[in-house]
Amino acid sequence: MTKRAYNFYPGPATMALPVIERAKKELLDFQGTGMSIMEISHRSKEYDKVHHDAMNLVTELMGLPSDYKVMWLQGGASSQFYQVPLNLQLPGKPMEYVNTGVWSKKAIAEAKHYGDVRVVASSEDKTFSYIPKALDFSDDAAFVHISGNNTIYGTEWSEEPKVPSSVPLVSDTSSNLMNRVIDPKKYGVMYAGAQKNLGPAGVTLVIVREDLLGRVPEKAPTMLKWNTHAAKDSMFNTPPALAIYLCKLSLEYIKEIGGVPELEKRNKKKAKILYDAIDGSGGFYKGYAEKDSRSLMNVTFNLKDKDLESKAVEEGFARGLVGLKGHRSVGGMRASIYNAMPIDGVKALVEFLKEFQEKNE
Ligand SMILES: *Cc1c(COP(=O)(O)O)cnc(C)c1O
Repeated sequence: MTKRAYNFYPGPATMALPVIERAKKELLDFQGTGMSIMEISHRSKEYDKVHHDAMNLVTELMGLPSDYKVMWLQGGASSQFYQVPLNLQLPGKPMEYVNTGVWSKKAIAEAKHYGDVRVVASSEDKTFSYIPKALDFSDDAAFVHISGNNTIYGTEWSEEPKVPSSVPLVSDTSSNLMNRVIDPKKYGVMYAGAQKNLGPAGVTLVIVREDLLGRVPEKAPTMLKWNTHAAKDSMFNTPPALAIYLCKLSLEYIKEIGGVPELEKRNKKKAKILYDAIDGSGGFYKGYAEKDSRSLMNVTFNLKDKDLESKAVEEGFARGLVGLKGHRSVGGMRASIYNAMPIDGVKALVEFLKEFQEKNE
């Protein structure tokens, strides 16, 4: 047996072991072709099936209505920061954003190249430790953009903000994709770099309601128009075939274990075990995010004694609990417990945190 660490890195992040094992098994000879999936033409019937199976599994697992287009793009979620305003701008109409941290700010900065941006609310006053509640969106906005989960601060929108019915809601779901059952009809666009909650780095999942594909200005660069890729089922040019194949294996695995409802159940259980341990530590550990804004995916916390934080990270690492250092803007510790993190990983972490407290209190 290979020794596997419990990997709490925020991204690229842990993938389910059966997925990696299957990839390993198929790597030299993909389904009797005598070639690796990495080497096969993207126009071959073997790759074509992988590609479409992966798209269809997204539709099935997320329960997407038939007018939602699933796309596999490149450039990371960061490229969507400019592709969103480029594709959704409407002349003379404001683009409205909620600022919940570093990723929101980056998205806002890109949108400013395309027109009038209104930041409707921000949680910067408390270093992004909460999700703003008082939100007043305009009826004439081109779109509303949120960061669905704030990977760095450990905050998450537990429900969607209410937007006027004529205004599409766009969410950066890079770190909360498929982590619970949602109603996709509440969204116009969802996008996610795959490397946190779905697969390896190198592919970005973009889901767009079809009526929104027609807005893009004619003169925009071909590769940056969503409709270029939508029209060709993400085969306009060579897709990142290996990354899409690995996402397909992840999606099949998710389906096998019971789909998104089962992921939600597991994610809530994992998060509860960890937050309960933090809250029950008598103040030795202190959660960073406000309780009603806590993320299911990234659990951020500080130690009462700041000097112990790096020691805890190092001792955790020595035990095979990897990637627990908090982001530099928050400090402390962060456990990223994405879809693929097994419950045993969270239990091992809690056991370690308790022992560390006993020894250092
Ligand atoms: C990691 C992350 C990104 C950046 O993704 P890239 O694929 O590296 O561009 C954007 N948004 C959120 C919420 C993230 O967690």
